[in-house]
Amino acid sequence: MSEVKILNSGEKFSHVSVGSLKGFEGKQFVKDAAGETSCEISFGSLPSGQAVPFFHSHKENEENYIILSGAGKFQVNGDVFDVAEGSVIRVATNCDRNLKCTSAEPMVYICIQAKEGSLGGYTMTDAEITERENLL
Ligand code: ZN
Repeated sequence: MSEVKILNSGEKFSHVSVGSLKGFEGKQFVKDAAGETSCEISFGSLPSGQAVPFFHSHKENEENYIILSGAGKFQVNGDVFDVAEGSVIRVATNCDRNLKCTSAEPMVYICIQAKEGSLGGYTMTDAEITERENLL
């Protein structure tokens, strides 16, 4: 089982890590360690041939699954489709979802939960270019 480590933090940032994703097992939520206020991020891994042991549904949050490695099948209510490394799957509120790893290698994924309909400005409608000495 993996754990989340706090690596750096300051008044305006936090940096946490679950470590290498090679060999990552189980499920790890990072919101509390990172101090996230707008979403919950979790890392998950499914061994070959395994599905999440239950379906679940969310009342307020949509979920965005990002498949980092492996491949499998995703089910939303009665719809089933193939997913693989590079897939991004958005699942709305009030529906049942599950995923299964069908590849020989484990399926590792990130799930981001955020309040459905909450995204206001984004990218360049929210960001502005600022002046700062580059210390990198
Ligand atoms: Zn969920």
